[in-house]
Amino acid sequence: METVVSGIRSTGKLHLGNYYGAVQNFVKMQHEYNCFFFIADYHSLTTHPTPENLHGNVKQVLIEYLAAGIDPERATIYVQSDVPQIAELYLYLNMNAYLGELERSASFKDKVRAHPDNVNAGLLTYPVLMAADIIIHKATKVPVGKDQEQHLEMARTFGNRFNRLYKTEYFPEPYAFSFSDKLVKVPGLDGKGKMGKSEGEGNAVYLSDSEEVIRKKVMRAVSDSGPTEEDQEKPEAIQNLFDLMKIVSTEDTFMHFDSLYNKCQIRYGDFKKQLAEDMVIATAPMRERINEIAADTSYLRKVSQLGAEKARESASKTIKEVREIIGFKHF
Ligand code: AMP
Repeated sequence: METVVSGIRSTGKLHLGNYYGAVQNFVKMQHEYNCFFFIADYHSLTTHPTPENLHGNVKQVLIEYLAAGIDPERATIYVQSDVPQIAELYLYLNMNAYLGELERSASFKDKVRAHPDNVNAGLLTYPVLMAADIIIHKATKVPVGKDQEQHLEMARTFGNRFNRLYKTEYFPEPYAFSFSDKLVKVPGLDGKGKMGKSEGEGNAVYLSDSEEVIRKKVMRAVSDSGPTEEDQEKPEAIQNLFDLMKIVSTEDTFMHFDSLYNKCQIRYGDFKKQLAEDMVIATAPMRERINEIAADTSYLRKVSQLGAEKARESASKTIKEVREIIGFKHF
């Protein structure tokens, strides 16, 4: 059975981008593959969470994984820092990761632009840690959103380089995976780019947002004064709202508003109201379960212990073999 690995950075609540880009696929894949889904708390250190925030953020992602329907009996759910073998593999891979290729990563360049005061080495080597996350379980499929495509290519580069260097075929090649024919990119509500946590207030809709908050955010989403010509191309902000509708609404609803837009008869008030209602419906089952699961501390402890054990078992086997390949020996 093929192995699947994916994770979400523990920077707090999950948004619709995380859900439709990644977690929704996790839930489907757990029935068909040997799955490892983790909470990336090592990765979250690049933005320097305080010790007070760190655990709460990890807990929130664990709760939301479970609320979304990942079954800890089927898939291995674990916290990245419970598996220090990942950090060891990261160290080995770093020895053969080069400054030039790391600096060329699009997400590194974005981060440098957004936070010029915090360009740390962890940020630079983020794709190396991500490669370690994946190849530690020798995974071949990685359910991620479109923004991670380049990182997957780098994971293949680092795995292949290790193989070449040590004349082995130890690591298989991992590929980004989505059930649809394309990787998903969920746009934000601010009229430009993707939905993300660091993109500013009001851009993201969270799985844990209340119905009122979702309605308020969607009604405030950036739009324009409306189309002036029939069948005109949609500007980015409007296209983004339609892309969101395509994800959360039925095909009929989408076609209805698309045709009103094309005939210049659309009323953005009605359009947004419908979009908000469909987001409320799509997230309702998870919203309810989030509160239930959050209250059950002993269940969360059990899930994280079970996951840590299973993930460590798989990771220790890889590290033992990798150490032998590299040439570490005991006296
Ligand atoms: P991150 O929050 O950066 O750790 O991302 C975790 C997962 O969510 C990755 O698989 C991303 O590709 C996915 N993701 C985050 N934002 C989006 C988005 N706006 N559209 C699609 N996938 C996303």
